[in-house]
Amino acid sequence: MKPLTLAIRALDAYDPDALPVADALRIIRGCVTPVPMIERVALRSALGRVLAEDIVSPFDVPAHDNTAMDGWAVRHADLAAEGETVLRQVGEAFAGHPYTGSVGAGECVRVMTGAVLPTGTDCVVVQEVVRVDARGVRVPPGQRAGQHLRYRGEDLARGKPCVHGGCVLGPAHIGLLASLGLPEVPVRRRLRVAFFSTGDELVSIGEPLAPGAIYDSNRYTLHGMLTRLGCEVHDLGVVRDDPAALEAALAAAAADADVVITTGGVSVGEADFTRAILARLGEAAFWKIAMRPGRPLAFGRVGHALFFGLPGNPVAVMITFYQFVREALLAAAGVSQGSELPMLQVPARDAIRKKPGRTEYQRAIVEQDAQGQWSVQLTGQQGSGVLSSMARANCLIVLEHGRGSVAAGEPVTVVLFDGLV
Ligand code: AMP
Ligand code: MG
Repeated sequence: MKPLTLAIRALDAYDPDALPVADALRIIRGCVTPVPMIERVALRSALGRVLAEDIVSPFDVPAHDNTAMDGWAVRHADLAAEGETVLRQVGEAFAGHPYTGSVGAGECVRVMTGAVLPTGTDCVVVQEVVRVDARGVRVPPGQRAGQHLRYRGEDLARGKPCVHGGCVLGPAHIGLLASLGLPEVPVRRRLRVAFFSTGDELVSIGEPLAPGAIYDSNRYTLHGMLTRLGCEVHDLGVVRDDPAALEAALAAAAADADVVITTGGVSVGEADFTRAILARLGEAAFWKIAMRPGRPLAFGRVGHALFFGLPGNPVAVMITFYQFVREALLAAAGVSQGSELPMLQVPARDAIRKKPGRTEYQRAIVEQDAQGQWSVQLTGQQGSGVLSSMARANCLIVLEHGRGSVAAGEPVTVVLFDGLV
């Protein structure tokens, strides 16, 4: 990763108590560099991995002009402009079984989808419009030159990159690479992310709850979000609010991780000792972001690892992860395209109160009514500790920094959860 000092110093120009989301994101983006290591994996195991280099097609796909339909391959010049043309069938071609002869004037070849286009023919007439009788193959007028053909190289052209390095390989990419006959592909090493929760009140599942204690949920949401992003996760458990324990945990986390994520301990009152420890182990900025939920956020490095100190409240964890961590992790994993989430504009069903000067994230459900109209509705209680309204939601409404209250029916920006959290 790049040195943070300059990036953080650049922040002096901002109000440290209300850093706009966009500025925080810009600084974070500027500090991330991709993991350098590359490994080769079998094609099927490459699903969800980040392609490390451009893949250049070693040949044309398809390798030959071929037919897109079942019918007869003909010479367009033979066909009468008006009235029927009667042709003589000289052979057949099927997918994988080409016709090897040549096709002269007045001749045609029976072809099935995927068959190599016989030499001399230049168009395919679909079988539905053709009649065959004792006189021959009767083709009606009105056939277009070149119709129903798939051309050599129209899918992939030899020598051209067909999948770019920095792409997260999905099923379509895997299929495309298989069509080139590639048994394995170069991918970036998975990003190693270590994380732990901080708080004297936290108990891990499986342990009894003492009075006043709560179960740690953040590590479980984080585990899910990180796994979905394709990271290798190192869960380091719960760490007490004790400077020595925190320092030891941070140092251990950074020892073999690319990124360290903690939750809790960055809010006013708790941040002070975290700040002192981070100053010893690396460097970090403690920001108050102009957003809701998720105001406190620490960002920096511990040893060589990138560091995110997320707030403790469970919903704030998910939203700061989505807004700041996700993109940084993708960039660190080597993803260079398609990491921005699609944002849709959907009318709000009800009015929403909002103050300009901060970005607000509201849990919501986007759905279609009986008339087929889409709209989005809040899931009720929006407290930053209320995880149930996050679990009920299928999207977030993002109310932009400068925006004020929203009237019922007004379009708002929506980010769908599918595949995200
Ligand atoms: P903090 O930022 O540490 O002051 O925590 C803010 C709030 O989030 C407190 O109510 C904590 O109890 C709660 N909290 C912190 N960490 C967790 C966690 N891992 N799981 C569930 N709740 C948490
Ligand atoms: Mg705490």
